[in-house]
Amino acid sequence: MRAPHRVVVVGASLAGLSAARTLRAEGWTGSLTVVGAEPHLPYDRPPLSKEVLAREEEPELPRLPLPAGPDARWLLGRRAVRLDTSERRVTLSDGTGLAYDGLVIATGAHARTPRAGGPAPPGVFTLRGWDDALAVRARLGAGRSLVVVGGGFLGSEIAAAARARGTAVTLVEAAEQPLTRALGRVAGAYVAGLQEEAGITVRTGTRVTGFRTALGGGLCAVELTNASAVPADTAVVALGGVPATDWLAGSGLLLDQGVCCDPFLRALRGDGSPAPGVVAAGDAAKVPYALAGGSRVTTGHWADALAQGAAAASTLLHGETAGPYDTVPSFWADLHGARFRSVGLPSLADEATVLEHDPAGRRLEIAYHHRGSPVGALTAGRTSRLAAYRAELASAARSAGVCAAAPSAGTRTG
Ligand SMILES: Cc1cc2nc3c(=O)[nH]c(=O)nc-3n(C[C@H](O)[C@H](O)[C@H](O)COP(=O)(O)OP(=O)(O)OC[C@H]3O[C@@H](n4cnc5c(N)ncnc54)[C@H](O)[C@@H]3O)c2cc1C
Repeated sequence: MRAPHRVVVVGASLAGLSAARTLRAEGWTGSLTVVGAEPHLPYDRPPLSKEVLAREEEPELPRLPLPAGPDARWLLGRRAVRLDTSERRVTLSDGTGLAYDGLVIATGAHARTPRAGGPAPPGVFTLRGWDDALAVRARLGAGRSLVVVGGGFLGSEIAAAARARGTAVTLVEAAEQPLTRALGRVAGAYVAGLQEEAGITVRTGTRVTGFRTALGGGLCAVELTNASAVPADTAVVALGGVPATDWLAGSGLLLDQGVCCDPFLRALRGDGSPAPGVVAAGDAAKVPYALAGGSRVTTGHWADALAQGAAAASTLLHGETAGPYDTVPSFWADLHGARFRSVGLPSLADEATVLEHDPAGRRLEIAYHHRGSPVGALTAGRTSRLAAYRAELASAARSAGVCAAAPSAGTRTG
């Protein structure tokens, strides 16, 4: 495989930037164009649900480091609207056409919007980007009331940060505990306990059915399935992300809630063959994991977007000699003074073994297995344990072997 001359990176955020940085770090001097829908230079998202909301001081854009070496061309505030894989061309929203011989798809995800009927009134937000975070932040503080819809880590962090600013907070979760689907009941109950201890009202086993507005048109209450309503002037819907692949419709790429990739992160076409010169990374990519028996997974984790961006760039430069992507997934979140860290894919587990459970000491350690094999671990206040878990999971993944996944049900071709 010959190294490309012209690389276009679509998505000017973590995964795209990691790819761009890797290309330059490996000494590649070809023409590099980075396209980003947002007007901002690349920035980091994790602080948006943590210190940007929680701190009283005015926040600054948490910028990500740019690639070193020859200048890249930055086309910001413009989105890619079309990909032609036969002509090897990306079309932007302003009509610009970009020819490539290497393309990195790194368009991340959009926030999932509420299903509750009708358009959401003023005062209802999602939180994916910097502008969302500033808008939510402006509505937090003593005397304000917030409902967070969705008790995953993002919703839990938003609730914790808002509470730290003195906001009255209710967290609404459809399952019987927050985080149950991802991490099981013990971890869910542990997190719910921390939230309640901080003065957050946790409403589980109920869904949002609608948003009630005041005379002026703004939000005044959030309606729930059990016919109750929680008074609130602000709601943040934190129901996860939807891979931003709408612009790939008609491209011929295999799309199934993400761009389906082979183990080298090459984007696959409808017939299962890699599209020449196209790789994908981050929250937009669906990547085969040996830990998942070769099934494709979109983890939605920061560290995975970073590692996949680098691996995708290596594939562009070196082809299969770069080796398959085999990094163990990892994640962190901060809640009420506890730093949660997970490795592997705990959501695959059929068994969770609790090794330590000490909410007062902000310590937790759970090992996850599927059919007796390790698939993940979760810790709070036990960072030193992670290296051993990571090594165990890497070894389990090696013995499972990387196998290309068959397209799953519901797969469609873009
Ligand atoms: C508020 C928040 C907090 C988080 N906290 C954590 C955490 O604590 N720990 C953790 O592990 N992970 C966390 N994450 C997840 C982590 O930030 C993501 O996994 C990571 O940002 C994914 O990077 P990405 O580059 O794939 O996608 P993104 O960061 O979503 O970037 C994609 C970029 O592509 C742009 N784009 C989309 N469509 C187009 C188009 N058609 N044309 C051009 N550009 C386009 C978008 O505007 C965006 O700038 C958090 C995410 C959020 C939103």
